Amino acid sequence: SPAEVVLQTAGLAVGYQDLQVVQGIDLAVQKGKITALLGANGSGKTTVLRTVVGLQRPLGGEVRLFGEVTRAALHARARAGLGYIAENRSLIPALTVRDNLRLAKVDTAAVVALAPPLEKLLSRRAGLLSGGEQQLLSVSRALARRPRLLVVDEFCQGLAPLAAETVSALLRQATEAGTAVLLVEQMLHRALELSDRFLVLRQGAVALAGRSADHRNRTEEIERLTIAT
Ligand code: ATP
Repeated sequence: SPAEVVLQTAGLAVGYQDLQVVQGIDLAVQKGKITALLGANGSGKTTVLRTVVGLQRPLGGEVRLFGEVTRAALHARARAGLGYIAENRSLIPALTVRDNLRLAKVDTAAVVALAPPLEKLLSRRAGLLSGGEQQLLSVSRALARRPRLLVVDEFCQGLAPLAAETVSALLRQATEAGTAVLLVEQMLHRALELSDRFLVLRQGAVALAGRSADHRNRTEEIERLTIAT
């Protein structure tokens, strides 16, 4: 039987003022799978994510989330099972790790169970954590809510290889439990290694899409498409 589609867009078009930056995108994200959104700077990746989670209104087309076309705001989509981690990791730097979890109404023990290294860091301000620790906190906090779909911008941006591997493993573990993931990841090899499927955006349109495994050993085409224009 075909995998359950958790998120689907049809003809999704998005813009700012008079500038259209997403030009009618069709994408589908399946339960238990990781989909990577690739593309050069300015190709529209963040705009697509923001529209999918309800922070940006589409000019045209539709977003179908958990089987229903939605125009709901982010908080309502979150209640329905959507998690979102923005580029800035969605943390409050001046608050401690514990207070960041409290504010999000997430159980500390559940987060520590997912990410044991955080236990020693609960009293530290989130802004003083390393990039890897911050992303571990963001991802485990999001996963503690057991989202059906997790959307992550700049997944491993700025992380050392070991930290990137730690958060990647956490994400894979969640997909084995059925969570679907849509992420943006700049490092092409890492993105293809981590994901099941990928899409390459070029000037707001899908230039290429496919199975990540088919492209792991031949990335030239994707590299060519992700060069800034
Ligand atoms: P990056 O990898 O640099 O984050 P991206 O692929 O995520 O880029 P977007 O951030 O979605 O791309 O931006 C797509 C286009 O929309 C760019 O030309 C950008 O300048 C423009 N843009 C983004 N946000 C706004 C905004 N708030 N107002 C006007 N234009 C914007």
